[in-house]
Amino acid sequence: MRPVYLDNNATTRVDPEVVRAMLPFFTDQFGNPSSMHGFSAPVGAAMSRARSQLAALIGAELDREIIFTSGGTESDNAAILSALEVMPGRTEIVTSAVEHPAVLTLCAHLEKTRGVKVHTIPVDRRGRLDLDAYRTALTPQVAIVSIMWANNETGTIFPVAELADLAKEVGALFHTDAVQAVGRLPMELKSTAIDMLSLSGHKLHGPKGIGALYVRRGVAFCSLIKGGHQEHDRRAGTENTPGIVGLGMAAELASKFMDDETRRVKSLRDRLEGGILQHIPNSFVAGDPLERLPNTSTIAFQDIQGDAILLLLDRVRIACSSGSACTSGLLEPSHVLRAMKISCATVRFSFGRHNGEADVDRVLEVVPAIVERLRGPDRRSEDRQPGQCLDGARTGRHS
Ligand SMILES: *Cc1c(COP(=O)(O)O)cnc(C)c1O
Repeated sequence: MRPVYLDNNATTRVDPEVVRAMLPFFTDQFGNPSSMHGFSAPVGAAMSRARSQLAALIGAELDREIIFTSGGTESDNAAILSALEVMPGRTEIVTSAVEHPAVLTLCAHLEKTRGVKVHTIPVDRRGRLDLDAYRTALTPQVAIVSIMWANNETGTIFPVAELADLAKEVGALFHTDAVQAVGRLPMELKSTAIDMLSLSGHKLHGPKGIGALYVRRGVAFCSLIKGGHQEHDRRAGTENTPGIVGLGMAAELASKFMDDETRRVKSLRDRLEGGILQHIPNSFVAGDPLERLPNTSTIAFQDIQGDAILLLLDRVRIACSSGSACTSGLLEPSHVLRAMKISCATVRFSFGRHNGEADVDRVLEVVPAIVERLRGPDRRSEDRQPGQCLDGARTGRHS
């Protein structure tokens, strides 16, 4: 049985062209770009090219607005910690309830250890940000707003350009974790008020362990990693040159393929989603059905709990993920689904460049029977009320 990979929001297969571009930087082109001899020059040139490729993908004004990091997590940490340093007198952070742990865990830590006040803006049942709560939280005490561009679990897209404009009104910096959005959505950062943006190579068919932080020209920045003068003193440590070259190539391919890929992946996603909703009663899409990444479909199945569905899918070699996290031995809905008051089982199908029609066919072939089996023969799905698993009382125990 050919495996079906539908977990591209967790990580993506490295594009073969990316691998090809990287290989020389493990062999002949091994020089340290900071050296003063002939081994460094071609490596430095390749890094500059990668910076341009990435700047072009996100519509940065200048290549030097790109700082290479070890990935999305480091970029998120660097952005938020820098803001607290460069905005003296401001000790508050505004973020959302559905951010990646790279943001939320750091914020919780800062709250506990540094007395930073964190405003965590709730979302509604479709995962959309509470704009009134957002406006209320914005005050001249806020150093930085960090709101993701698109949510990794549901694909819900946040109106980051508008949110950035609002943040500017109180003089706060605006950062966005765009790890899921870069390469999937067109962006033109230079025409927005976004100050900082995080991205990661392995979510766009590039390598793991490499990412970048965009820092708008003129925005003060304090390096997270202290040491040598690499990256214009904004990220110390000898550069991950194969990774940087790979990220550059991944960015170029994303720019080149984005329009076609968006159309193709969205039509696969929509066919899968339509098929599931049609054949499985009491299932619904979690997240904003309209403002959503083209590759992501998270489907909630009422009257099923936990991850059993994933295990059964794995047995037939279909890889996807759920919004559950196993904490202290108890399977609980993720913070994202909890914030959306969804307590039943969900499955996230996330598509990428290497998926095709056959993948959709396979899933549609097996999922209805798996769901039926988990619901049990004696439980007639027609009997149940729609919206049953959107019950706030049932999720209350988690908060
Ligand atoms: C994957 C992911 C990250 C973490 O990126 P890494 O490169 O794996 O550290 C951060 N934010 C979001 C939204 C993600 O999906």
